[in-house]
Amino acid sequence: MVKGFIFDLDGTVYLDDQVIEGAVETIISLRERGHKIVFLTNKSIATRIDYVNKLNKLGIPVTLDEVINSNYITMKYLKDHMKEDDAALVIGEEPLFQELREENINLTNDPQKATYVVLGWDRQFNYEKLNIAYQAWLNKAIILATNPDRTCPVYGGSQIPDCGAIIGALEGATGQPIDSVIGKPSRLTAEFVVNEILNLKPEQCYMVGDRLETDIRMGFENGLNTVLVLTGVSTAEMVKETHYKPTYVFNSIKEIVNI
Ligand SMILES: [Mg+2]
Repeated sequence: MVKGFIFDLDGTVYLDDQVIEGAVETIISLRERGHKIVFLTNKSIATRIDYVNKLNKLGIPVTLDEVINSNYITMKYLKDHMKEDDAALVIGEEPLFQELREENINLTNDPQKATYVVLGWDRQFNYEKLNIAYQAWLNKAIILATNPDRTCPVYGGSQIPDCGAIIGALEGATGQPIDSVIGKPSRLTAEFVVNEILNLKPEQCYMVGDRLETDIRMGFENGLNTVLVLTGVSTAEMVKETHYKPTYVFNSIKEIVNI
């Protein structure tokens, strides 16, 4: 039976610019057996083409349609929901703007005209941007975010604030949760990847990742098999505590060939 493997990137396939041992061989072997592969990342500060180039450089053959990031799913969401007079105000970095512009999503800087606000990871985030988003919210705009991650791990074992911190800033002002968080672990993202990209049933799919609260939770809540790899953020110790129990816990991506 054909299986679909959904691979997280950071901490699963590579750490920074270092490919995880066995990742290349594992992915090639899964392809040779006729399984379907997709790479899925929440990180919104790079384009899908950047990921294709990075994976190819690491020796992993991949095409653009096999790489999905939270910006892409956010674009799809806006395309499905926005009407002719709608406009989106975006807080984020250039790759997010680029993804939305390429698909002709109507963008605005004017909080009075914005019917949607999109929050992404933005390393130039400041009070002015927070205020613009807040004014749009006062004006009844729908607030979305690309991904819920509070932090992103960086080289040397440290972490830096991610989109979750920007969501927190706006929620601190409004006193209310934002309307929708795209990316893992949302149902929207699970259904999009399983139905539209892999075109398989959830039980044929395996979500492979290093984070319990995004990767494993998304699989757990949407009927996918899950594989936690211990090469990134979550540890075997955390598996004991979590509600989101993975189907498999492996030391690394290398062990997937044993499924
Ligand atoms: Mg990861």
